Amino acid sequence: MKIENSTVLTLGDLDGWDYSGTALAVLGHPIGHSLSPLMHNTALAHVAAEDARFATWQYFRFDVPPEELAAALPALHRCGFLGINLTVPHKILAVDQVSAIDPAAQPVGAVNTLHRTDSGWTGFNTDGYGLAAAVKEKFGCDLKDTPVLLLGAGGAARGAAVECLQRGCASLAIANRTAANLEALLEALRPIARGIPLRGFTPDQLPHDLPAGALVVNATSAGLRDGDLAPIALATLPRPMAVYDMIYNPPQTPLLRAARQLGLPHANGLTMLVYQGAKALEIWSNLPTARTAPLMAAALTTTKEPTSHV
Ligand code: NDP
Repeated sequence: MKIENSTVLTLGDLDGWDYSGTALAVLGHPIGHSLSPLMHNTALAHVAAEDARFATWQYFRFDVPPEELAAALPALHRCGFLGINLTVPHKILAVDQVSAIDPAAQPVGAVNTLHRTDSGWTGFNTDGYGLAAAVKEKFGCDLKDTPVLLLGAGGAARGAAVECLQRGCASLAIANRTAANLEALLEALRPIARGIPLRGFTPDQLPHDLPAGALVVNATSAGLRDGDLAPIALATLPRPMAVYDMIYNPPQTPLLRAARQLGLPHANGLTMLVYQGAKALEIWSNLPTARTAPLMAAALTTTKEPTSHV
């Protein structure tokens, strides 16, 4: 059975599922525009050309509304799936539905990668790894010992913040529009800060003592839609080292345009997308990210498909 990357399956397609190869899938709602099937199947096809063990590996997409997740996970296990990626709206919901969670993912409170075990699924979160690998590739920046200014307090920001703290950033400042959401995130992070300076503010109340040379990471959705403003006035900050925007569609956001005007190194979220996917594939297959990430990146740069994250 060969299914096109663009084919959207549903839970009903698992009745009588007879794929005999190694099956992987991404679940989301909506899921039609996910780039993950293209990324993974392209990488797997290249690897399989040199290593026959991967000849039957295939990555499918399933449209699973949130109320069906509790049925979908055991059904995919029964059908023999080896691994699952989760995207909106399942990353947090799945935490209570897996049999184990990777300790590094626990403080994030969200999982985007599930790996089959005999008794169920183990949950991982590869988004933070994706960010760390992306800023390393784009700016040569290690999160360790780097001051980070993180914009946003939603799910993606939480994953980024945990990764920054776990990797020993020099300091973490978080700016978010809604003070209550910011405070909730800070409260969740304080127990794992381990002495790393951690503070928050709203973008209209910039502290005067932000460090120069910070890595600015946009984890807000400001920039996704036409007419959005940048989530922070970049020119008012002490000169940052670089600006990474998790958004990649559109490829240029108001924040990235401001970075360009200021002559700052900047990059969009495509590399993070690639590395979170390559890390998931490594969890399932032991194929190193150094081998698969370039294949995934090449698959994305040659596509004209509309995009959505994961
Ligand atoms: P959430 O809905 O959980 O959080 C959204 C965040 O954006 C909140 O902090 C919210 O602030 C803020 N926000 C929304 N609109 C505006 C605005 N107009 N101005 C300022 N702040 C705003 O979303 P996620 O955390 O899941 O995703 C955030 C972004 O990260 C998305 O653009 C997503 O596409 C991207 N992403 C990219 C990935 C990649 O691989 N490249 C992976 C995951 C996410 P408030 O609290 O005030 O509402």
